[in-house]
Parts: sequence; C-alpha cells; structure tokens
Amino acid sequence: MILAREFFGLNLIAVIDLLLSNEIEVLCKASNLKKILSLGIKAEKGDSVKLTYMQAKFVSQNLIVECKCIYCDKVFKQKIRRREHFINDCCYNKKCIQKNNEFKFELKHGKGIKNPGQIKEVREKIENTCQKRFGASSPFGSKDVIKKREQNNLKKYGKKNVGSLPETREKIKNTCQKRYGTDSVFQAREVKEKISNTLKNRYGSNITNVSQIPEVRKKINNTLIENSEGTNINTSKEQKHIKDLINGFLNYKIGRKRIDIVRLDLMIAYEVDGRGHFAYSKNEDFEKQELEREELIFKAGFKLVRIVFDLEILSDEKMLKLISYCNTYLLSCNERKIIVDLRNNTITTSKTFDLKRVIQ
Ligand SMILES: [Zn+2]
Repeated sequence: MILAREFFGLNLIAVIDLLLSNEIEVLCKASNLKKILSLGIKAEKGDSVKLTYMQAKFVSQNLIVECKCIYCDKVFKQKIRRREHFINDCCYNKKCIQKNNEFKFELKHGKGIKNPGQIKEVREKIENTCQKRFGASSPFGSKDVIKKREQNNLKKYGKKNVGSLPETREKIKNTCQKRYGTDSVFQAREVKEKISNTLKNRYGSNITNVSQIPEVRKKINNTLIENSEGTNINTSKEQKHIKDLINGFLNYKIGRKRIDIVRLDLMIAYEVDGRGHFAYSKNEDFEKQELEREELIFKAGFKLVRIVFDLEILSDEKMLKLISYCNTYLLSCNERKIIVDLRNNTITTSKTFDLKRVIQ
C-alpha cells in the first residue's frame, strides 16, 4: 500500500514519481471526453493525452499503469479501479508476492513477525487442530503420513529413511560446507545462535537446548522405546520371556548401549545373562564392558537387577516372585544393584543368601 510505504519511507521516490508525472497516456473516448475537457485540456475523441496519475484516475473507470516492482525491478502493468486508492509496487511473481506479504504482516504484527506461524496464539491453534486431526503437532507428524512417506522411500530407495542414504548424507554435507563451512547445519554458529534464541523466547531464559524442554524429553523417551522395541538385535528367548512376564521394554537404549529390559515406571533395569552372554564371556573385555554398562545404567537413574542363569530360568510364578522381591528391595533402600544367580541359587545384595528363602 502506498500510504504505508510512504510512511515508512520505502520506495517513496517511485510513488512521488508516479503521482507527479505527466506520463500516463489516456485515450479520449466518448465516456471520458467530458472529464478530460473539464480539466482544461483541449482534446478530441480518438486523441491520446498525457495526464498525471491523479488526473488519469479522475477520468478513467479502470486505469492501467506501468509500475516497477520494488523487489525485482521488473516493469509490470496493473489495473487500478476507480474506487481503489492503492497501487501495488510489487509484481505478480510468486517470490515477490511472498516478500510483500511478509512485509505487510510485519507492519501489522511487529518487526520480525513475518507469517502467522510466528504468532504464539496462531501456532497454538494450528497445533491443537493438528493434534485433533492427525494426533501429532504437525500434519507431517501424523502416523499415516509418516507411513506413506516410508513406503514411498522403500519403493524408491529400498530404505525407510532417506536421511540414512550415503548419497543424501553426502549432499547435505556438501550444502552445509558451502553455506556454513561446517559438516552439519547444527554446527554452524549462526544456526546455533538462532536456535538458542528461539528456545529462549519460547520457553524461557534457562532453556538453551531442545532436550531441556519437558515435552521434548517425554517425546525422546517415547522414541527411544519405539526404537528399542523395533530393532533386530540379538535377543534371547529368556530375555523376551522375562520382558513379557514383567511387562517391561526390550533393548532400551541408554547412551550407546542397549539394556536388556527396563521398567520405566520403576526405573529398574534388568540384565539377563544367559546363554547369549556366554559367547561374550570368553572375551577378556566382557567384565570391563559390563562395568561400563552398569555405570551407564546408574548414571541414567536406573537401579539394576542382574539375572544370571545357565540353561533355564525358573517357572513364571517363581520368576515373578523373585523379580518382585528384587524390585521391592531396590526401591526400599539405597542399594543400586542386586544379582540373582540361578546357577547356584543365590541372591546377592550387600549380602549373599539363598534365593529359595524368597520363592518358597
Ligand atoms: Zn517482482
């Protein structure tokens, strides 16, 4: 809008040019001759006269003027209706229109706000609608959409996730190198700053990292669970059996390690050392690795039940009794670890005792 732009000093010269110039050609017709004559201009029907913008608007029903786009400098024609009081100084190019819309939006809602998605209330409304309709905060997060995308990718590339293809990764890396001089967008300083600022604005000054937002943490946890359940990691029969028995999650990922079973409601991890682990135990690093794994479990806030057996575990009833004893024990004291050894029927906490005491 001219007035807005005039006020903000944008393209002012072009607007004044148009308002003051005598460059608008108007053809004298029966319909406008009277008005042209009333301006004191001598003309006859069929003549072409040059008028100012204001004069031309006065005599013409629809005025067609040539304008220069302020975004791309292209000269374009536009029709200005009699009753309209603005001239577009933006051409019909999609990109220019977008820039113009952003400009107008900024005028209305304040600097830095370029689209409705940046207004808090609007964003919340959109998210609510999407939650109702797709069960996700954006249409792209809906399970149907994700499934469809994965199927397409499978057909096209033989993989569910295109991001894991070497070609894609290489391409992303190259683009990032060109643009920011880093391998990943998230390493770029400007991007980091932008993300951190956005987070501060949205969630408060103490949040500098996405994973500090409570909802995100919850989501990450859920993703971990989904990932854990869906993997084809070697899982022993007993591990699966115990998992079903106690209704836990299989192969839960903490850091780089997978934990056999966890119960997130109790924050207890269960390591099932049976046949599967026997092959490992020949490895000298086995103990060191297990210690590292335990440290990781404790650091993540879990307590640990380690179940060691040779060939078979106990009956469901006995296993349940045993595990529920371990749970109660761990949750009622400061100890972090309990070892159930089915090979010699012992339970080891700070002391070692016969496990038959527990299951009979
Ligand atoms: Zn343009």
